[in-house]
Amino acid sequence: MSERRVRVRFAPSPTGALHIGGVRTALYNYLFARQHGGDLVFRIEDTDSNRFVPGAEEYIIESFKWLGIQFDEGVSFGGDKGPYRQSERRAIYKEYVQQLLDAGKAYIAFDTPEELEAKRQEITNFQYDCHTRGKMRNSLTLPKDEVERLIAEGHQYVVRFKIEAGQEVLVNDLIRGEVRVKTDILDDKVLFKSADQLPTYHLANIVDDHLMEISHVIRGEEWLPSAPLHVLLYQAFGWEETMPQFAHLPLLLKPDGKGKLSKRDGDRLGFPVFPLEWHDPKTGEVSSGYREQGYFPEAVINFLALLGWNPGTEQELFTLDELVPLFDISKCSKAGARFAYEKGIWFNHEYILKKSNEEIAQLFFPIVKEHCSDETLERVVAVTSMMKDRVSFVKELWPLCSFFFVAPTEYDEKTAKKRWKDDSAQVMTELMAVLESIDDFSLENQERIVHEWVEQKEYKLGNVMNAWRLTLVGEGKGPGMFDISAFLGKEETIRRMKRAIEVLG
Ligand code: GLU
Repeated sequence: MSERRVRVRFAPSPTGALHIGGVRTALYNYLFARQHGGDLVFRIEDTDSNRFVPGAEEYIIESFKWLGIQFDEGVSFGGDKGPYRQSERRAIYKEYVQQLLDAGKAYIAFDTPEELEAKRQEITNFQYDCHTRGKMRNSLTLPKDEVERLIAEGHQYVVRFKIEAGQEVLVNDLIRGEVRVKTDILDDKVLFKSADQLPTYHLANIVDDHLMEISHVIRGEEWLPSAPLHVLLYQAFGWEETMPQFAHLPLLLKPDGKGKLSKRDGDRLGFPVFPLEWHDPKTGEVSSGYREQGYFPEAVINFLALLGWNPGTEQELFTLDELVPLFDISKCSKAGARFAYEKGIWFNHEYILKKSNEEIAQLFFPIVKEHCSDETLERVVAVTSMMKDRVSFVKELWPLCSFFFVAPTEYDEKTAKKRWKDDSAQVMTELMAVLESIDDFSLENQERIVHEWVEQKEYKLGNVMNAWRLTLVGEGKGPGMFDISAFLGKEETIRRMKRAIEVLG
């Protein structure tokens, strides 16, 4: 079987925004497909019409576009094994349900919701299974003509999978090894409902994985309990030979403790759990997204790739392409991965450093333009190169750098109290004269001349620089003073100093 072509799929149900855990599942599928020269299929599992949310499918597609995860076939990507939207495959499922019925591996059950509820009241932990099915209203207990009559009269029914007692199912999982389950504890899962003529997730999922020639099923741990049933379905259809290999990925855990990561954790601690901002069409609620919060897609990918897997080295920064050969599904952890969202912020910072000043400046430029409509890109690049190592997000640059573009009109009271001494006005007036006399206003030249002057006057360099900073910045922050003055230029530097001396006295 090793020569089998690798084909994996990401198969979300369009029930809302794509959770960040789903993004990681898709990413691992992508890496696995690429490293084996295989195919990644995008399938929409929309057989549960009650949970269908308009816009969810488009949202998911846009998310992957933003993240740079490319599918080879599937909904909106083409391919010759479609349709890839399950709601468009009804006829196919009906055929396979019939096949199981004909083989006696599934049966028709007429029990109404009320009857089932009555059973639940009567028997504690009631389960529709090998022990109870003989006492229920189904095609195993009713005469054949009665079954036909009920169907002809339009009574609603479901098709259930007949799980044989006394057997053991083996799930071979690439991450968890051999998982064995006794069939006695499994219930006869519903595979098809006459009411909407639609299959359930289990049936549709297996039929499609088979018909789409899926070789590996890589999905979240929450699907592990379904895996024995899926193995039994493969066997019931006689498809053991091409049964995919399973790999159930570790759960994403809360950042601060045990339990599954939830949207509430994000709301509580202030990080997004969705790739893109999501506008819930039902409630109108808006949930933040990594894109809108200013994360780079590369940073999100890098962060997620290391949640549940690591390359076994100290290296932490990887591009998507670099991850492809390194990723190893068998080295994924079984234990849940703590969603350390601060690490995501750290990755974003690293990508700010990694990207060129020009690239970051291009993103910062429109923000600067909002405040100063005639700023030039060149000046924004200069500021970016001085300041980008101090931020994790481009949006943090403006509050930090606005003084480069807008002269201070007020002076921070606390800083002034501490830094503006009795002689500051006089010293700044002298410094103004020194600066005035400099023709070559380059950083190095200013620095040399100003230092000479400070030495000659026997001033304290720290005091001079602190007061000077207050005049140019309006507070006690910012990069080196000569970086600032060189950027502002002689005229603007002196203008700001004059004004500060006037105001501060
Ligand atoms: N439709 C399922 C989901 O929403 C797919 C699970 C699987 O990959 O088998 O995740």
